[in-house]
Amino acid sequence: MVIVVGAGPAGAVAARTLARAGVPVTLLERAAGFPRNKPCGGGISIRVLSRFPWLEPTLASIATLRLSRLYLEGPDGDSTVIASDNAAVLMIRRVEFDAVLVREATDAGATLVTGVEIVRAKATPDLVVLEARDGRRFEAPVVIAADGVHSIVARRLGLNPGWPPGSVAVDMMEETPRDTLDADRSTLWVSYGYAARANSRTHDTTRAPEGYAYIFPKRDHVNVGIGYVLDHFRADVDAHPYALQQEFVAHLRDRGLVTGGSVRKNFTPFIIPVGGPLKRPGDGRVLLAGDAGGFVNGFTAEGIYYAMVTGEHAARAVIATAPRDIPSRLASRYHKAWRREVGAELRDSVLVRRYLFADRRRIARVIAAARHDPAITRSVLDYAMGRASYAGVRRRVIAGAPVVAARLLIDHVRTRLLQPGNSRATISTPPGQV
Ligand SMILES: Cc1cc2nc3c(=O)[nH]c(=O)nc-3n(C[C@H](O)[C@H](O)[C@H](O)COP(=O)(O)OP(=O)(O)OC[C@H]3O[C@@H](n4cnc5c(N)ncnc54)[C@H](O)[C@@H]3O)c2cc1C
Repeated sequence: MVIVVGAGPAGAVAARTLARAGVPVTLLERAAGFPRNKPCGGGISIRVLSRFPWLEPTLASIATLRLSRLYLEGPDGDSTVIASDNAAVLMIRRVEFDAVLVREATDAGATLVTGVEIVRAKATPDLVVLEARDGRRFEAPVVIAADGVHSIVARRLGLNPGWPPGSVAVDMMEETPRDTLDADRSTLWVSYGYAARANSRTHDTTRAPEGYAYIFPKRDHVNVGIGYVLDHFRADVDAHPYALQQEFVAHLRDRGLVTGGSVRKNFTPFIIPVGGPLKRPGDGRVLLAGDAGGFVNGFTAEGIYYAMVTGEHAARAVIATAPRDIPSRLASRYHKAWRREVGAELRDSVLVRRYLFADRRRIARVIAAARHDPAITRSVLDYAMGRASYAGVRRRVIAGAPVVAARLLIDHVRTRLLQPGNSRATISTPPGQV
């Protein structure tokens, strides 16, 4: 028997994979039921459809939009449009997408128990024991913790002492129906290094503000938001999150990029782990999947795809491990599997973010390169569409920019010294708040 904590994309895919292999699995979820909301932009690179072929038919029941046009803007106003022949990004609303994934898990045979907030976790030699806020106890020989960025299971079992402030971003966004806030339906609009209201005492003009702003069109809604690394937000941004959001929407309206206005009740700031995966996202009888393990692309803040990939690998590791070998072999089997598939891209995404934001001219250069070098642009799009491997794209980009590659390597060595567990500066944000 396996318990999966958290029914987001990581937990739902883990539970579905286990149930389909005939493993009895219980999926515990804090929310009172589905559909439930999760603050998220809801943009997923289209490769999710080739990586999870069972997904496409289930999407027919929800509102989706496929985009093939990306507008990219730098901190000094330079911009480019990257367009592809086929869709590159799948847009979904999390309130619908997560419900569909959970239904996939329960249809496969998983037992869903909602309204269970785990507050304590303890590992004994034979079992993991979980306790809910209302006093209920659950135990199983294996637990997959997919309980998101604030993972209580990871905290209680000492697998994550807390994210350093430079390893999380605060993302402020709203999802509003098109009749109230509207934007071009064909284009994903992203502004890297977007300068919201700056604190003039601390503002460093060499660096780009470490974050981005975006307009993500959905079929019937529009998502608009700004995200910043928490360090930057605390030191350099001199405003309340919703005041920033209102100013951002007004700025977009002035530029003719949106019509209508911001709606306060649709606005939710939330945290994303952007410092790369934990060194050991799992130990003994417990595996961490999705945000709980830090599986988010540090540059794009894309996390849904990695949550699904790591949820599946966690489940497959359980299926492949004999019960007597669980304490000694389960976690290493899981680590090998996720590292093989997404380890390099997640590591590089953090390095690329740090490298680019350290000097605003670098973002301008990347935008200029995308404008003038269609080969690089095409290889990045091939990757987003699942037509090229990450390693292949990486080789092509590095061959074209060896100096950047050398700098990334140096940053990589530095990054390893700053990973969670090596830093005392942590955040302890209550779930759901920033
Ligand atoms: C504002 C914002 C915008 C984003 N935009 C994008 C985007 O456009 N594209 C993208 O790919 N990613 C985006 N992300 C990141 C993405 O949302 C996450 O990476 C993704 O949701 C991770 O999935 P998960 O299953 O690991 O965790 P979650 O989706 O967070 O699911 C965790 C689940 O666990 C439950 N849970 C939590 N604690 C407990 C507990 N103690 N007991 C029981 N259950 C519990 C929660 O209720 C939740 O259902 C964004 C994030 C934010 C904050």
